[in-house]
Amino acid sequence: MAKIISVNAGSSSLKFRLFEMDDETPITSGVIERIGFDDAIFTIKYNGEKDVKTLPIKDHKVAVQLLLEALIDKKIVNSLDEIKGVGHRVVHGGEYFSSSAIFDQDTADKIDAIRALAPLHNPAHLTGYYAFKEAIPTAGAVAVFDTAFHQTMEPSSYIYPIPYKYYTENKVRKYGAHGTSHFYVSQKVIEKLGNPEHSKIIVCHLGAGGSLSAVKDGKSINTSMGLTPLAGIMMGTRSGDVDPSIISYICEQTNISVEEMIDILNKQSGLLGVSGVSSDFRDVEKAMQEGNERAKLARQIFVRRVADYIGRYFVQMGGCDAIAFTAGIGENSFSGRHDILEAIKEALGIQINEDINHEAIGEEALISTPESKIKVFVIPTDEELVIARDTKRLLNL
Ligand code: AMP
Repeated sequence: MAKIISVNAGSSSLKFRLFEMDDETPITSGVIERIGFDDAIFTIKYNGEKDVKTLPIKDHKVAVQLLLEALIDKKIVNSLDEIKGVGHRVVHGGEYFSSSAIFDQDTADKIDAIRALAPLHNPAHLTGYYAFKEAIPTAGAVAVFDTAFHQTMEPSSYIYPIPYKYYTENKVRKYGAHGTSHFYVSQKVIEKLGNPEHSKIIVCHLGAGGSLSAVKDGKSINTSMGLTPLAGIMMGTRSGDVDPSIISYICEQTNISVEEMIDILNKQSGLLGVSGVSSDFRDVEKAMQEGNERAKLARQIFVRRVADYIGRYFVQMGGCDAIAFTAGIGENSFSGRHDILEAIKEALGIQINEDINHEAIGEEALISTPESKIKVFVIPTDEELVIARDTKRLLNL
């Protein structure tokens, strides 16, 4: 029996899911939020029950101890030795990692060396790694990178048209993100296509953050996020692609700093910024139905931008066998999928079975008709499972 825990340590949070890897069953999952505060929130789900506690949690070390104590108290494990592996999600692997890696001091040093590329995330992942290492020294550790899947892009897709020295000296290039999800979903689609030797798949990961990828023969050849997750499509609070001159123009016009402006592009833009209602797709749709014009516009921009990226990747791959929708919006919003597909169906020859699309909420489905030139799937993503699988594989469990 090999138990593996998938961990996603953020700057003030720690998400986890424990698997029994013999049959890949999720045993328990949860999240610790507001780490560093007196009113931190510890939520753990087990056996269909959800236990939520508010308590002071000083740092990640304390959070990990609490989590492990809860696993023992609730008899989820009899002893911590049962946990043979800890798989850590790491947002940025830079150019060091094109696949998952054993998390040892060398890996930790590399993650630290590129902390400037993910200043909020990479230090938090390291804190999580050290906390688990101390708490369960017998367990192996693996780092699974959000950027790794996209390392197969060609320079013509990842180099920005700015002076080349910023790439060589400052590591400025497109790295992409959500790689674990794009990998998982594209693999599922390849299976559904019958494991052909060649395949062209566009994955639309549409959640609070969102990105698209072009996956050719199982390899990512392009993706919409860039140096950071600010680029690409419009998101809940992130702008996605904008003319960079907007930054200096607004800074001058409104007397704010570049840092403030980047913060606005990250946290106050996207669906929230345009609608003025919410960053949540459901809220924006509701407001739109109630006649809110800006909510309608926000949703239209969202649809337009996703459709545009699908068009780009269709052209780059010289066609497309399948489009897959995943993450919160992609898995659940049949109306969002409908409108995106409406925007591309004439150009790409897509036909949708509206009844199946309507019913496909949070579950796997083929929503295109047999006549459609491109198959369209809904595939719920499962990044934690990929992390646990890679951990099992690399630790030879
Ligand atoms: P994620 O980041 O993957 O958890 O996705 C969050 C996004 O998914 C939010 O914008 C939610 O509004 C959206 N979402 C979740 N469930 C639904 C739903 N049933 N219909 C429309 N949007 C949804």
